[in-house]
Amino acid sequence: MQYTPLEDIPKIRETLRNGFRAGKTKSVAHRKQQLKQLGYLIQENMQAFLDTLQSDLGRPYFESDVLEITPAIACIKDAHDNVDKWAKTEKARYRFSTSAMQPQYRKEAKGTVLCISPYNVPVLLSMQPVVAALSAGNTVCLKPSEQTPATSSLLGELINKHMDPEVIQVVQGSVEVATKLLELQWDHITYTGSQRVARIVAAAAARYLTPTTLELGGKSPVIIDPKSDLRLAARRIWWGNVVNGGQVCVAPDYVLCPREVQDKLIKEINIAHAEFFPKGPKNSDSFCRMVSTNHTERIARMLKATKGDIVLGGEIEVKERYVAPTLVINPSLDEPLMQEEIFGPVLPIVPVQNVDEAIAFINARDHPLAIHVFSQNSKVKAKVADETQSGGFLANELLFQVTTHGLPFGGVGPSGSGKLCGKFGFDTLSHLRCTLDSPKYLDTLVLWKRYAPYTEANRKS
Ligand code: NAD
Repeated sequence: MQYTPLEDIPKIRETLRNGFRAGKTKSVAHRKQQLKQLGYLIQENMQAFLDTLQSDLGRPYFESDVLEITPAIACIKDAHDNVDKWAKTEKARYRFSTSAMQPQYRKEAKGTVLCISPYNVPVLLSMQPVVAALSAGNTVCLKPSEQTPATSSLLGELINKHMDPEVIQVVQGSVEVATKLLELQWDHITYTGSQRVARIVAAAAARYLTPTTLELGGKSPVIIDPKSDLRLAARRIWWGNVVNGGQVCVAPDYVLCPREVQDKLIKEINIAHAEFFPKGPKNSDSFCRMVSTNHTERIARMLKATKGDIVLGGEIEVKERYVAPTLVINPSLDEPLMQEEIFGPVLPIVPVQNVDEAIAFINARDHPLAIHVFSQNSKVKAKVADETQSGGFLANELLFQVTTHGLPFGGVGPSGSGKLCGKFGFDTLSHLRCTLDSPKYLDTLVLWKRYAPYTEANRKS
């Protein structure tokens, strides 16, 4: 993959700023035309994207289609079809006292937005911020991940060739390029990725007081209600653990399971595993690989360091970027497996006494991006939702919050801040500019009172 020369980066930012200043993105019709063009680029090159995603991540076509290509097109279409409505100036709620001033707010673009995206779902997670930025009338610089070179190159080639370079450009590269980008002033930065790099991005943004939207990760737990349908729980949790090779920001990171049902849950997970991969995961064309040997080694180190027992899987082949779906029980809480986001198909089960202990366990840690509970009891579900904090809360399901239309997906605290999808993304990347237009007659009628001297007579009349 060809990295963008560092000396070109300030020029690219200038071109995009000039595009914004020239008012290119002011017209909603022009934004819709850009969105349409983007949608066609993804749709008409769907097979090419399925191929690059397979080459970068060893990902089955089916997963790439449902995880990102179809949702990316839906996200673009949603913005295209609704931006006229989203962009309309809105009236403030009616108050007799101020109504004559016509209080309203305009939805204005912020300017030129930098979007830095991750490797794990490289098309959708590049499209969401780009679509939010374009629909709100910004110009955009996208820096996709260098870890998915085939997909990022294809995105870059298509966008840089077919879209207006004063409206959107893709910059390619790794840390050096990202660092150069972050030295420049932007009007907003969206960043999707790890908490470690988010700190670097936030610190760089602070230099210019640039607003940021951070979509991060962390350790998203699953709580098991001992009376829940364990068969259903096992199938769904194991699916969440293996899809995209566990490289999903809202993948189940660990399970908090009451001791009384742990053996039963393990048995059901083994059954689900055998059903998903009848010839074993290594020979299955339905199981993804890790993105790189580095990430494979990272998982290998985690598993080597665990004091827990591996009861399923555990095989790793670094050269092949293969990590078998792995189940670990009784991990010690101070080992990397329980301290760091796993981001691979490895699932520890932590024994607890009951749901109360599980809630206390979660509340003693950073707010996760997602909390899941498996229960058929509405009181248990409500209790977990009410007594915890997280980016999202899912009962008896995993992952669907990312692609469910109309949901404000995002983190809270260390798992992220701000939203980038759909109308929420449009709002994030818009400036709501309040306006008033005060008629002269108000001074004659009532507002003459505002002027000094503030006499008793003024107040009473
Ligand atoms: P990453 O932080 O390593 O990289 C993300 C982006 O940051 C890449 O484009 C990369 O080039 C860039 N980058 C790397 N080092 C940088 C630096 N020093 N300065 C500036 N930019 C730098 O993340 P990743 O490994 O690609 O993705 C995995 C992480 O992303 C996980 O933590 C996962 O939970 C998180 N994630 C979150 C969401 C979400 O929506 N909340 C979605 C997907 C992934």
